[in-house]
Amino acid sequence: MQPADHSTGILAPDPAPAPTGLRLRVGKLCISLQGPTPAELFQRAEAALADCRFLEIRLDWLPKPAAALPQLKEFLAKHRDVTAIGTCRRKEHGGKFTGSLTAELELLLKAAECGCHIVDLEVESAEEAKPAQLARFRASLKAAGTALLVSFHDFARTKGLEQAADRVEAFQPEFVKVASTARTLADNLAVLNLIETRSLNAQVVGIAMGEEGLVSRVLGPRAGAAFTFASVGEGSEEGATAPGQVSARAMLDMYRLEQIDQATRIFGVAGNPIAHSLSPLMHNTAFRREIVNAVMLPLRVRMLDDLLRLVRELPLAGVAVTMPLKQEVLPHLANMDQLTARIGACNTLRTGADGKLYGFNTDVAGVIRPLQKRMKIEGARIVVLGAGGAARAAVFGLVEHGAEVFIVNRTHETAVALARKAKAKSLKEEVLVKTRFDALINTTPCGMAGVKQALPIKESGLNAGLVFDMVYNPLETPLIKLARSRGIPVIGGLEMFVQQGARQFEIWTGKPAPEAEMMRVVEMALRRSGAASQRAGEPASLQR
Ligand code: NAP
Repeated sequence: MQPADHSTGILAPDPAPAPTGLRLRVGKLCISLQGPTPAELFQRAEAALADCRFLEIRLDWLPKPAAALPQLKEFLAKHRDVTAIGTCRRKEHGGKFTGSLTAELELLLKAAECGCHIVDLEVESAEEAKPAQLARFRASLKAAGTALLVSFHDFARTKGLEQAADRVEAFQPEFVKVASTARTLADNLAVLNLIETRSLNAQVVGIAMGEEGLVSRVLGPRAGAAFTFASVGEGSEEGATAPGQVSARAMLDMYRLEQIDQATRIFGVAGNPIAHSLSPLMHNTAFRREIVNAVMLPLRVRMLDDLLRLVRELPLAGVAVTMPLKQEVLPHLANMDQLTARIGACNTLRTGADGKLYGFNTDVAGVIRPLQKRMKIEGARIVVLGAGGAARAAVFGLVEHGAEVFIVNRTHETAVALARKAKAKSLKEEVLVKTRFDALINTTPCGMAGVKQALPIKESGLNAGLVFDMVYNPLETPLIKLARSRGIPVIGGLEMFVQQGARQFEIWTGKPAPEAEMMRVVEMALRRSGAASQRAGEPASLQR
């Protein structure tokens, strides 16, 4: 029986059988390509082949899409192992093509004749087409051996996905695509559920666009999606054809899309902003190095409840949390160690076998471990500059390890309050000139890229046997430079970042962390971003 077209009540034409072998040729990743000119578009296509051989050619992004057809034909004739989707989405449906429905269908047909294996027709166009027009279009596609993908896009939200899929499936295309926009992390769950149920009977592509939708982009194929989309290159927004699209390089190298399976444990680093976090790079490198079947994804969290729902329902095996979630999450923990409770902040969550959340503070290890490598902490006199969140972990951790801790802060009363709670002492900055310490730790943002104040204290106040600067962006802070110039040994903030991450890795996997490799990749990323920012004349914007 022919299926009914739900929107028009018209019977849809007989579905064309999927062209032979197509299923086998379609990989998990399709690079979506656009360009301002045909020459540039196909230059990018050539470059994309280094990463994958499944490409979407967005003809609608060209001012004159028809002009690109000869090059399309030439490109596909040259690369016979490439699978290509031809797309010419009209402006009113979220694309850039300003032509009519008839012009769109003609272009798609020509793309098929040029060798595209799949063409993408948006559901609105399919519904607008007259049944005879659509039947002719499909018969011609069939003759060309080209499959039809019918797509639904919602550029505003994730809602009514089942109805959207029904509209698409009414045409019985070879591929069903539903793309919505994620406003919350839970929107990923809706998309993944849709993929799971619909992929039993159809080849489905489901995506939640936008930064919050990254989970669906990476985990779609695991849920049963035929494939997912990525942009060309290393990760700049420049090549992207949809909001939140991730680069193919990141999909393949960082998130290891090809290796993700049902047994892969999913971790996240949660915060807002989070896009520039170094944690996914560091942890995914460590997972790969230690052959741990796990992946870490950046999770943009606006509301803690949203994160907790994802943790429960995806589920997530663990989460690294940034401010202000470090404190907000405490009431939701089944348990935490005593030190974490005293600090009043938890940066690491682990989901137990009982499904409950357990909290840890690995910032303490981030401070203690680098110091332990260089000095005896017990009995040492250590001055901590600053009395904020990072200082709390340092002060409580150092006191716990037997150090005599002194706190100096811009707002002296805050230092007094923290000292009282942590069994430390508070000092005024003036005292630093005449008092010698075994180590000085900067926990203020002074010296950080974009922060006006370069040094946390006057130069004359630097009177310590070791300097530890938590700031790592830039790698060589003014305080580190000053200490070096006086021959004082230094510890940079990157070592803290890596050590707190190493402790997270141990908590999550039970294995020792590949610290040197973790350090190597984050340092390289920082150097690269520092250089890029310097070229652009702006401060580097990497976060933990
Ligand atoms: P926070 O809670 O906002 O605390 C900032 C502290 O610095 C406060 O005590 C504040 O003094 C003081 N401060 C801010 N601006 C200052 C200035 N211009 N002069 C003197 N003191 C100033 O921040 P946080 O979360 O503790 O983070 C602090 C720094 O540590 C950031 O740069 C962060 O990137 C870095 N950090 C690094 C790591 C790592 O892994 N390397 C980990 C955590 C944090 P008031 O009380 O007077 O406001």
